[in-house]
Amino acid sequence: TPLVIGLTGGIGSGKTTVANGFAALGIELVDADQVARELVQPNSPALAHIVAHFGAEVLQADGQLDRAALRSRVFSQPAAKEWLNQLLHPLIRQEMQRQLASARSPYVLFVAPLLLENQLQDRVDRVLVVDIPEPLQLQRTLQRDGGSEQQIAAIMAAQISRTERLAAADDVIDNSAAPEQLSARIAQLHRDYLQLANQRAF
Ligand code: ATP
Repeated sequence: TPLVIGLTGGIGSGKTTVANGFAALGIELVDADQVARELVQPNSPALAHIVAHFGAEVLQADGQLDRAALRSRVFSQPAAKEWLNQLLHPLIRQEMQRQLASARSPYVLFVAPLLLENQLQDRVDRVLVVDIPEPLQLQRTLQRDGGSEQQIAAIMAAQISRTERLAAADDVIDNSAAPEQLSARIAQLHRDYLQLANQRAF
C-alpha cells in the first residue's frame, strides 16, 4: 500500500474541492462514502443479505436500496442497527483497504468525511483536515444545498467538534480564503507528501 493521507473535515468545509486539487496533480483518491454506496448496489451480496433480513420494503421500485426506509427501520431498533453495522463495516473496511492497496500514485488520498467519527485514523499514515470557521461552514453548505439553517446546524452538531478535529490533524488546510489560494497550499502539501512517500520507499 502506498502512503495513505486521510482527508477529513466538517460538512461544507471543502473536502471535495481539496480532493479535486490533489487529483489534478495525479494523486489517486479513495472515497469512503462511495465505497459504502457501491457495496450495496443492486445484485451485490451485501444488498441480498439486507433484503433477506429486513424484507423487500427496504428496496425502491428500481431495485436500489431505499436508504430512508432502511434508516427508519434501524432508527428505533438498536439490535437491527447492530446487525447492519456488523454486516457492512467489515465489508467496507475490506473494500477500502483493497482500493488503497491498489492505488498506483506515490501516495493516495483517502477522502473520509467521518474519518475521526468512525475511528479510521489507524488506517491512514497522516490526517489532513480541511478547516473553516463554523459560520462559513453553515453559509457555504446553505449556498450549495439549500435547506434550513437548523438542518445543517444539526448535522454539524452530530459531527466531531472543530477543536477535536484540529487536535487530531497532522496537517491543516485553511479553506476560509478564496479557492484560488488553495492551490499553493495543496502544491506545498503535495511536495511534502512526495518526500514522505520517498523516504518510506527506502
Ligand atoms: P460535504 O462534506 O458536505 O460533501 P465538502 O467538504 O466536500 O462538503 P465542498 O463541496 O468541497 O465541501 O465545498 C462546499 C461548498 O463550498 C461547495 O459549494 C464549494 O464549491 C464551496 N467552496 C469550497 N471552497 C471554497 C472557497 N475557498 N471559497 C468559496 N467557496 C468554496
